[in-house]
Amino acid sequence: MNQPSDQARPTPRAGIMDIEAYVPGRSTAPAGVATIHKLSSNENPLGPSPKAIEAARDVAAKLDIYPDGTARRLREAIAEVHGLNPANIVCSNGSDEILGLLAQTYLAPGDEAVITEHGFMVYKIYIQSAGAVPVSVKETNERADVDAILAAVTPRTRIIFLANPNNPTGTYLPFQEVRRLHAGLPRNVLLVLDGAYAEYVRRNDYEAGVELVAGAENVVMTRTFSKLGLGGARIGWMYAPMHIIDAINRVRGPFNVNATAIEAGIAAIRDRAHVERSVAHNETWLRWVSEELTKLGLRLTPSVGNFVLIHFPEDQKHSAAAADDYLSARGYILRRVSGYGFPNALRMSIGTEEANRGVVAALTTFLKS
Ligand SMILES: *Cc1c(COP(=O)(O)O)cnc(C)c1O
Repeated sequence: MNQPSDQARPTPRAGIMDIEAYVPGRSTAPAGVATIHKLSSNENPLGPSPKAIEAARDVAAKLDIYPDGTARRLREAIAEVHGLNPANIVCSNGSDEILGLLAQTYLAPGDEAVITEHGFMVYKIYIQSAGAVPVSVKETNERADVDAILAAVTPRTRIIFLANPNNPTGTYLPFQEVRRLHAGLPRNVLLVLDGAYAEYVRRNDYEAGVELVAGAENVVMTRTFSKLGLGGARIGWMYAPMHIIDAINRVRGPFNVNATAIEAGIAAIRDRAHVERSVAHNETWLRWVSEELTKLGLRLTPSVGNFVLIHFPEDQKHSAAAADDYLSARGYILRRVSGYGFPNALRMSIGTEEANRGVVAALTTFLKS
């Protein structure tokens, strides 16, 4: 028998109401703005692969049928492209879902999970949802600091969440540093390497983590289709040791990846030409945007992702908030990042040529005003 309660209505578990809800990038401009360039969510300016669009259309007629709950064909397509064993992959409704499932599966109330000062905000939400304690460690020059992370590990630590490269800074840890981090961790601490932007990185000393996962029992790599043109389809995946796959498969929803996502995902990952075009576009325009904005006297955090973090001058008139208003009025929607510890910066996704040139031109006049 339940005890009678003096509470007048259902109450969330302790800690739930302390969570600050995630605020997604805006997609609207003030009334009267004709053309919107959404540069607030790191989407692919080239759009989805045309083959993914076609595959999604073809599924429409069969939407009465449940999807394959193991997303086998999608896992096989991912495995083929990345040279992995499909058994070590689990797919999810965006990689956000996997991050949440990892927290739910490996954290108990009172446990600690380490995140970094300017790390991706979703980690904190899932840590708190599990009743665990987020331990935020200082970064050095807006980059994760391996020594600081290792120093924060206690007997209560269960997970380290590391986005590599990180969002919203765009900085990355060279692979030797990731290895050093792993080598310093107790073997019961799970290292989550979030490679949401891995495809975009063009650095010889970068690796997303495949080898580390393959050679250890306590490392997983999460990836997403969102930054390469399928944000709306919600497809993420994780490469992990079998014992972790086994645990996650018990906890996840039985049909967590929908039929449209499965078919669009298979077509998209096989369309290597579209991926290459997207990455090449980013390489060209990331460099151009970074150079042009630096010439305007703005400080940028050096980025290897498909976005840049732009720091604004200290004077009120030219603050990030003022720049955001100015750009929004002209249809350029960037991302405020105060919640990430950057009250005077904006994050700009690399856009189409038109959008990139437009932002640079608008900021040129803004800074002179
Ligand atoms: C965008 C992003 C994700 C997840 O995106 P999904 O759309 O849920 O796959 C994960 N980590 C980082 C760092 C991101 O920027």
